[in-house]
Amino acid sequence: MHTLRSEPFLLNREWSSRQIAEQARLRLAKLRPDVLELHDALFHDGVENSDLWAIMTPEEKEGILRIPVIAIPIQEFNTCIAEAPAGDGQFIVFDTCIFKELVDLLSAVPTQGLPAWTACVLQGALRKVSWTESPAFWTEAAIREVKAYEWPKPDHGVVYTRFSSLLIGLRFCVMFILAHEFAHQKLNHLAGDLSVVLRELGGIVVTAHQKHHAREFEADAWALKVLTRVPVGYFATWLLCIEAMFWYLNSIELFNAECQRIKGATSLPSDHPDAWERGRRISELSADFIETTTQGNLDESLYKSLKARKTLFEWWKKANGLMIPLLAECYWNDPERTVGIHDAFRDGSLGVDEYKAEMRSIETKHKITSTWYGLRRTVRRVKSKLF
Ligand SMILES: [Zn+2]
Repeated sequence: MHTLRSEPFLLNREWSSRQIAEQARLRLAKLRPDVLELHDALFHDGVENSDLWAIMTPEEKEGILRIPVIAIPIQEFNTCIAEAPAGDGQFIVFDTCIFKELVDLLSAVPTQGLPAWTACVLQGALRKVSWTESPAFWTEAAIREVKAYEWPKPDHGVVYTRFSSLLIGLRFCVMFILAHEFAHQKLNHLAGDLSVVLRELGGIVVTAHQKHHAREFEADAWALKVLTRVPVGYFATWLLCIEAMFWYLNSIELFNAECQRIKGATSLPSDHPDAWERGRRISELSADFIETTTQGNLDESLYKSLKARKTLFEWWKKANGLMIPLLAECYWNDPERTVGIHDAFRDGSLGVDEYKAEMRSIETKHKITSTWYGLRRTVRRVKSKLF
């Protein structure tokens, strides 16, 4: 099977940035037409065609490069600015896995439950190792629903429609990711050698900024400020997609940390890793904004949206506590079978009950849920906190 991963993007060093963008589109058209469709709906030809551009003020647009956005796999759930080797322009690289993973994730929430969330987390955690190319089975219905939706015209005001999944907010999520990238440009985070890392990536020199906590928070706040210009009714509903994205990234961080702990590593990142803290700050800033705008007068739909957010957050915290350590244990003891079970669940060949039975059989075989194992796990956790 030809996949995005197995067919690397081979760059001709003579190409201009526009030619690179065109070649990247052609490749996507051949390998993942569904992702190309999404890409075109969001960026068309470049930054100035994005939904985000439409709500930015002239001051905010000032100094932002009007460059093409291309989607290629860099396997980092990240965006970065790249320089054409011919030296005649730049473009934004948008990792294809952002589209792939967000479509899987947002389509699953809230109807698909724990196995789907876990399958998404495992796939995200193994991004660099294994790559399941086809979308999860549950995305089909969600995509159909979103495609059939007619976006209200501006003079219709805010029209509330209930959707069965969060996929409707995908655009908003992507706007946030792009705005975060712009923020680094606007806030001058890319200036100075210290913050910029140059990397070769399939023949392209990529300028990625080094992760710096304070700057990430600053860029998130800038991005959120731009996004608050959409009507508050939409903002409050779609915000959940950005939050869910951070919770998801946090679950991946927790899974990786748990695997490290099982391996015996003792110096681990703090209990509140990056994604958790970024998500928390976004929720806090948004709550302030919603409160100021509505003055506490929530109409029923807004109230429902905010309640749904709270419910999902509580569910996620519980799911993380229960599922992530177990997933890590199963993966550690039997990686092949754990991946196999989750892949089968993703493609729809394994039902929920069968999934649970399969996972339980790994647990039993390796005595993962036994008291003795539990005790060992507690000792490991204490040890990793002490050192
Ligand atoms: Zn950043």
